[in-house]
Amino acid sequence: MAAPDSNAVHMMDTIMLVDMDYFYVACEELRHPEIKDAPAIVGSDPKGGSGRGVVMTCNYKAREYGIRSGMPISMAYRIKPDAAYLPLDYGFYESISGRIMDVLRGMAWKFEQVSIDEAFIDVSDRCNTYADAEAYAKKVHDGVFATASIKCSVGVGPNKLVAKIACEKAKPNGIRVVKSDEVVDFLSGCRIDELYGIGKKTEEKLGKLGYKTVKDLANANVMQLVGAFGSLGIELKNYANGIDNRQVEEQIGIKSIGRELTFDVDTSDLARLGEAVITLSNAVIEEARKGNFFFRTVTVKIRYYDFSEHVHSRTVRSAGDAPTLIDVAMGILAGNIDPSKKVRKIGVRISNLVDYGKQSRING
Ligand SMILES: [Mg+2]
Repeated sequence: MAAPDSNAVHMMDTIMLVDMDYFYVACEELRHPEIKDAPAIVGSDPKGGSGRGVVMTCNYKAREYGIRSGMPISMAYRIKPDAAYLPLDYGFYESISGRIMDVLRGMAWKFEQVSIDEAFIDVSDRCNTYADAEAYAKKVHDGVFATASIKCSVGVGPNKLVAKIACEKAKPNGIRVVKSDEVVDFLSGCRIDELYGIGKKTEEKLGKLGYKTVKDLANANVMQLVGAFGSLGIELKNYANGIDNRQVEEQIGIKSIGRELTFDVDTSDLARLGEAVITLSNAVIEEARKGNFFFRTVTVKIRYYDFSEHVHSRTVRSAGDAPTLIDVAMGILAGNIDPSKKVRKIGVRISNLVDYGKQSRING
């Protein structure tokens, strides 16, 4: 009889998604404890109800009134004018995020940051049973709080897909463990749009093919899915069956840095648009300098009053200074703007980043 292989690296895959609860508001609560028990919203300035832009995050008190992230700030203001409205302060949130991510990285065999407040960790090497996994999730959850006084939720599963959905179910401030043999049941209780890669359009398209639930999709005809979605069709069916082979992998460095600005009043005034591009370019370069990043690609996004959006990019030989970025971004603006349409929002982004920082960080 074969003995269990004692050299096996691990007996089961244990992936966790750790996601901070209403992160920006939670950060603001640290320095404004008075907003804790009242509805609080982080986002654009509501300007007495005429403000533009959106709610970035809100706390659970604000959610009780039906306020949600992504909602126009003017709508939130109509619902709750006396809520606490706070402007975004990315620098502050990033400093807190950095401390949390360092702790998570230290607790993981493999680590992958997904966003400012979310990371996957692969802890397969330190969990041999689901009791271990549950205990480790608690350790992670409490470790985050001990580090930064920020609450998080932890989803645990045999792969990224299950960990992500389990985390959604665990919110707020909870832990949810889904064992391998529970995956099919767990997913069949989820809405189809809770699976990865299924947005509104895909959901509609699946519905027309007769796939309305996760169970329908799990039993779908794969050739029909491939006909409708290409290779994504195979993935969709796999996801519905709880199969996800994506690994947890550290993303080296930041992929892009961008800033956006919504005008108070839609404008087609080229001077105002140019000013905005300069302001945004300077903010982007300031951020890039922190990491000693040089950029190769510049992207300007223009959203017109009718919500049509145009994105234009130009790749240059690596550059890292503000005058070059302003020059390239202004060139893109001038070459692509439709002067007959008013602009609602404009964005500047740099990508294809080259990290020239390692050398100087080592030296000092
Ligand atoms: Mg979050």
